[in-house]
Amino acid sequence: MKCDLLLRGGEVIDPSQRLRGVRDVAVSGDRIAAVGERLDEVEAKRTIDARGLFVVPGLIDLHVHVYPHSPYGLEPDPLCAAGGVTTMLDAGTAGSYNFAPFRRETIDRARTEVLALVNLSCIGLIAANLGELLDRRYADVKGTVRMIREHPDVAVGVKIRAGTHIIGEGADGWANFRDAVRAARESGTWLMVHIGESPMTIPEMLEHLAPGDCITHCFKGGSTRITDDTGRVFDEVRAAAQRGVVFDVGHGSGSFHWEVVEAAAAQDFWPTTISTDLHTACIGGPVFDMPTTMSKYLMLGLPLDRVIEMSTTRPAAILKRDNELGTLRVGTRADIAVLERREGRFKFTDSYGGHRIGRELLSAAVTVRRGEVVPGGSGLRARHLAD
Ligand SMILES: [Zn+2]
Repeated sequence: MKCDLLLRGGEVIDPSQRLRGVRDVAVSGDRIAAVGERLDEVEAKRTIDARGLFVVPGLIDLHVHVYPHSPYGLEPDPLCAAGGVTTMLDAGTAGSYNFAPFRRETIDRARTEVLALVNLSCIGLIAANLGELLDRRYADVKGTVRMIREHPDVAVGVKIRAGTHIIGEGADGWANFRDAVRAARESGTWLMVHIGESPMTIPEMLEHLAPGDCITHCFKGGSTRITDDTGRVFDEVRAAAQRGVVFDVGHGSGSFHWEVVEAAAAQDFWPTTISTDLHTACIGGPVFDMPTTMSKYLMLGLPLDRVIEMSTTRPAAILKRDNELGTLRVGTRADIAVLERREGRFKFTDSYGGHRIGRELLSAAVTVRRGEVVPGGSGLRARHLAD
């Protein structure tokens, strides 16, 4: 058998197949061609020595900002190379008035797969610091639904940032929140709610959320927390997670508080998905990239297989792309992250300046996107190493 690329001897972790073990992975074109203990008969155009590394499905980051006409917007392709992320979800940086140019100028040009949520605010986050829904006229249910219908291959849901300084207090805040829920229902998709200094509590929000809807920034500090005043995870939060509401990390520069993270972990409450909320104000730290965020969960004691699942197979299912993404099954798209685990002492910083010391740090060694080795990033093993 001939193939284009062979990843030799890495430890494969594929939660979609409950597979963990040393395997060779062969890629032909943009597909996974074979996964086996020793694919000695395979003749590959290019071989990468993956011994000592983890070979996992391409990472899926459920929360990034890559619309350039926002103070938050980053370029998608460098994030892919640097972080092993082959699919990323832009979390509502554009709204109905600027979604089409976002698609034309960024999504369609990126080599990385970018999917997106449409912000309920017609202007999205172009002036995010001013509060995109303080003027109720910007809440555009019809336009949001229309964008999702016109771009069904990339527009997968609805976003609202439900802070009081963004959606207003009292009745106005609630009206915006209800509009976001309505846009998700009318478009037949799901809603991602950014929490933080919100005009309603999380249990109050959860009454309106259905399975598949998502709370992002779920370990945020401040006044809107998943825990009560004594640090106990709300019963309503557990019940919502049980019925399929997604609790997403969305680390960012203001949304990951060790106190909340550790209180939740001590009560065995874990996120559904690990994501970064990478934007201009957190890429230089404390977030850096997806593998760093994943490493924080290793430090908290979560097994590597579960950390990988929360960063691949689960977000793929939420995006309804699990037939193709978040898996290394033969015949699926060859999106692959090769991760290196370094041991040492690593300073892990939350969004509030608190530090913890971790013993393991994951980093992206090689990223394969649609069968091609992505240039850039750390990529050490993509170069020829001497035996
Ligand atoms: Zn965000």
